Amino acid sequence: MKVINQNYINGEFTHINSNENLILKNPTTEEEIAQIYLSTPDAMNEAIHCASKAFESFSHTSIEERMEILQRIHDELLKDEKRLIDLAVLEFGATIKTTTRRTQNAINLFLTIKEELKTYDFVKKDDYSMTIKEGVGVIGVIIPWNANLAHLCGNIAPAIALGCTLVIKPSEFNALETQAFLECLHKANVPKGVINIVHGTGECVGEVLTKHPLINAISFIGSTRTGKKIFENCSRTIKRMTLELGGKSPTILLEDANFKDAIPHIFSSAYSNSGQACHAGSRLLVPKHKLEEVEQLLLDYIHTLNIGDPKSETTQLGPMINQKQFDTVQSYIKSGIDEGAKLLCGGLGKAEGFEKGYFVKPTIFICHDQNLKIVQEEIFGPVLCVLPYENEQDALIMANNTMFGLSAYVFSNDKAKALAFARHIRSGRVLINTSTSKAKHPPFGGMKQSGLGRMGGRYSMDAFSEIKSILF
Ligand code: NAD
Repeated sequence: MKVINQNYINGEFTHINSNENLILKNPTTEEEIAQIYLSTPDAMNEAIHCASKAFESFSHTSIEERMEILQRIHDELLKDEKRLIDLAVLEFGATIKTTTRRTQNAINLFLTIKEELKTYDFVKKDDYSMTIKEGVGVIGVIIPWNANLAHLCGNIAPAIALGCTLVIKPSEFNALETQAFLECLHKANVPKGVINIVHGTGECVGEVLTKHPLINAISFIGSTRTGKKIFENCSRTIKRMTLELGGKSPTILLEDANFKDAIPHIFSSAYSNSGQACHAGSRLLVPKHKLEEVEQLLLDYIHTLNIGDPKSETTQLGPMINQKQFDTVQSYIKSGIDEGAKLLCGGLGKAEGFEKGYFVKPTIFICHDQNLKIVQEEIFGPVLCVLPYENEQDALIMANNTMFGLSAYVFSNDKAKALAFARHIRSGRVLINTSTSKAKHPPFGGMKQSGLGRMGGRYSMDAFSEIKSILF
């Protein structure tokens, strides 16, 4: 079992002075794989002071220097790509196929941001003024467990581009991947104090980060529940904030859609990361008179799903990350049954054939009541709620009947109609006739209680900048 007892502060691995620790288990086998020590506020305070000191000089580095750093980090991560993928599969249980794509995207982001730097509008000038974009300062980053590397890279790359320094609290559940990432980072020879990573719990070191006066901005990715607490804590020192929070995204099958073609997309969205994805399309809206047809298509497809070892290239659905998440999903399934939703397939207990591992039965409910807990709350597991609608106007009201607004998916054979429908949905993004997009770094973020601000490529750079006017 690997022991992780070091933070990364001021360019060095520093011992965690605490006896408090957490055992991580392989979600596929339930074997113990790591013991991670959890820092005290002292370590976080030290990291913040180092990042603040480093900002004084790093904010004045040239664009060329920062481009070189981005390139070096990229190169070091690329050398260790395989190890990063294997560790994410081991400790998180996401399938190797998904993890490989995500890891490659995360590493590539350093090159994308390097490229953006060449044309970024740092200075605009006219006869009487200069408008300057400069780094926001010291950024505190807090990360969830379901896309660790993506969020490490997604915050570090734009922060470096803008000359900002960082203090990062990763999720305590991704310690192995974070450790491997840090080893790459160390080799990339980033100036001391620019990137600091402190392991620990949100309640302890996370709170120090969100309240500390030397932290200028917080980039938080996690649940809406925690996001509200962070919003409150950040308000004490008026920190800049990006909040990337939860979702309960609708997939709308319009009457004229090709249902058969849509089905794989419906599953790839709803069961993305085994349902542990913020953008999961976990509410499926279908025309009422076509409900039976859709039920049959869903059943036909779900029985072909390959559940099992996430290391296998053919696996489509892996386990939940840990016992706690398995239990949370079970309690939602129980609530759906208790509240009278019709269970189309799946249900309580472990998926068939799995005594070990946190494998949930892929579950589908038919819900005639939009107010059910399983329809309104984010479950974060492979549970799809199907909701019949009367007409398109009804479908739109239902799609928007949620406190969330992160993502949405619309299927129709009439592109103009789908586009018009998409424009009425209150969410940060809408995908038409697909569950994945080939668009290059579109903005990502939520409306309503799904978040605040936008990240992604150039949008992340904007999020990490302040605007200054100089007038003459
Ligand atoms: P979480 O809110 O429980 O924890 C997220 C992070 O916040 C963890 O690092 C945790 O230690 C820390 N934290 C907890 N309490 C804190 C506090 N009081 N102060 C500071 N930090 C604190 O979320 P999770 O269970 O780790 O992740 C799943 C959630 O993340 C889901 O709701 C999912 O939708 C969301 N998510 C959103 C996006 C997005 O881009 N919108 C992406 C991934 C995940």
